[in-house]
Amino acid sequence: MQFGDLEILFLRDGAFKLDGGAMFGIVPKPLWQKEVTADERNRMVLSCNCPLIRTPGGENILIDCGLGRKWNEKQREIYAISESPNLLEDLAAHGLKPGDVTILAHTHLHLDHCGWNTKLDANGKLVEVFPNARHVVERRELGPARKPNEIQRGTYLEPNIAPLDAAGRFEPFDERLELAPGVTLFRTGGHTIGHVCVRIESGGRKAIFIGEMMPTVAHRHLPWVMAYDLFPLETLEAKRALMKEAIRDDALVLLNHDPNHVAVKLKEGERGKIEYEPVEA
Ligand SMILES: [Zn+2]
Repeated sequence: MQFGDLEILFLRDGAFKLDGGAMFGIVPKPLWQKEVTADERNRMVLSCNCPLIRTPGGENILIDCGLGRKWNEKQREIYAISESPNLLEDLAAHGLKPGDVTILAHTHLHLDHCGWNTKLDANGKLVEVFPNARHVVERRELGPARKPNEIQRGTYLEPNIAPLDAAGRFEPFDERLELAPGVTLFRTGGHTIGHVCVRIESGGRKAIFIGEMMPTVAHRHLPWVMAYDLFPLETLEAKRALMKEAIRDDALVLLNHDPNHVAVKLKEGERGKIEYEPVEA
């Protein structure tokens, strides 16, 4: 998609399932099952949408890098991981190699967002996948990623994080970072302490990669906040502000986990209800 001076490629990596109850926090199943279908184990399907922004200055900015392919049998079963689509194949389909990615913008370092940081080589050794990328991450994300507590342990996986960290490859920033003209990361917190979203502005148009503030269209309802979120009231306020901004500025809202929509427009419907319209990528 051409977006002012920028080009946005809608890349994806695999799909997986998470518990529907946990995905909707305090919302009871009779409500959320009107919007999504749960399997026999109460899990719902999620995709990993990782847009890549190409700038006229030659930057190729990848937002998150999906599930990767380092999963063991038990993890595959728990998360019902499917290996298609594949981020590296999606890149190749646009004539790009991993070495062409100049910036990897980490919204946060959970297992479904930085899986391709590393891969296993033929000798079973962990190696970097994006050798030329700056790995930018909000500073506060690094503490729990390095030393997760009992609640965080299942979501920060050492093979995705430790090799890059040991090599000094993470580039921490505080609160906000302009990656290129019109492409800015800004901290929301909420989901994790260092969670960031991305504002993309060019040629009078605006897009917001809204991250875990609204992972699927079903999360457009304000109280539908994930039980996974460590700071749900921060999520609520960030989501409220970002949805308001998106409606006011007619911005494209880019979704990270919706299996059916990578981009939508939001509008206010009857009685203040938020509605969405799919946008063709
Ligand atoms: Zn996620």
